[in-house]
Order: sequence, then structure tokens, then C-alpha cells
Amino acid sequence: MAKAAAVADGMVVSVHYTLKTEDGEVIDSSDGDEPLMYLHGAGNIVPGLEKQLAGHAVGDRVKAVVEPEDGYGEHSGDEPQMVPRTSFPEDADLYEGMEVMAQGPDGEMYPMWVVELTDEHVLVDENHPLAGVTLHFDVQVTEIREATKEEMAHGHPHGPGAHAH
Ligand code: ZN
Repeated sequence: MAKAAAVADGMVVSVHYTLKTEDGEVIDSSDGDEPLMYLHGAGNIVPGLEKQLAGHAVGDRVKAVVEPEDGYGEHSGDEPQMVPRTSFPEDADLYEGMEVMAQGPDGEMYPMWVVELTDEHVLVDENHPLAGVTLHFDVQVTEIREATKEEMAHGHPHGPGAHAH
């Protein structure tokens, strides 16, 4: 008899999840939505959650507390910066919490997040909106399957509810 699949590197895992802050405020949830599908070991989800899901089977419910260093990092770097709207493409569909790519002095690209929008300016921060936040996950594993060669090569799952391209 085949052993029941467990969450491990190279497996595509589907989960229902609720993410809360320490105070119980819901930040994100798959409730009423398709489960989240990710490729284990590929950094698709925050490292602290990935670690705590390893070894679990379908049906398992996992309550994982993830410190910032294993989540979205500590708050660091400079204060948020005001950038004129004109430095974004005219048709850019900007919204608060959006990730945008910025270019450093040596041409290297790095992510920043939109904090606030006004008619003329965009306030951007190099910290992820959840930097410095301890994450409280409540996760239920709904499906585990082996990743295809193509998924392994791309570093993400394919199929319904997953990455489309
Ligand atoms: Zn792909």
C-alpha cells in the first residue's frame, strides 16, 4: 500500500488558510475562495509557514505562529518616500498595498510597496506591509500531489487556482 503523501519538497500543496495578527485581526483568508496552491520548497510562501507545514498530511490542521524574521522581515531601511505620480506609467493601476519595482543607483531592481496615494504623489516604502508583524496562520491541508517536471522547472504550481501563463 502506498504511504499517504506528506508535505515535502517537490510536492504541490493546497491549503485553506486564515492569517491573523497577534490581536486577532484577519489579514487574509482563503475563506469562500479556492484553496491556495503552492510548490513546497520553492519559496512560494513565507519560510516560517513552509517549515511548519512540512511532514503534514491531507486533513491536518496546522496553527503556525511565524515571527517577522521567518515572515516578511523586520521593519528596516529608510522612511517611506514620496514619489511623484508622473514617475509611474500613466496607465499604471496603482493601489495601496501594491508591490512595485524600483531601480537602485546601480541599476539593480528591488521591490517597494505603495503605502498611500494622493492625486499627485505616491508614498512608497521598502518594507512589505507585513514587515515586523508576527503572523498567526490557521491552515488546513486539503490536497498534496507530486509536482510535474514543468512545475519544478518554473518553481510554482500550474493548473486551476494556480499561476496562469
Ligand atoms: Zn509556470
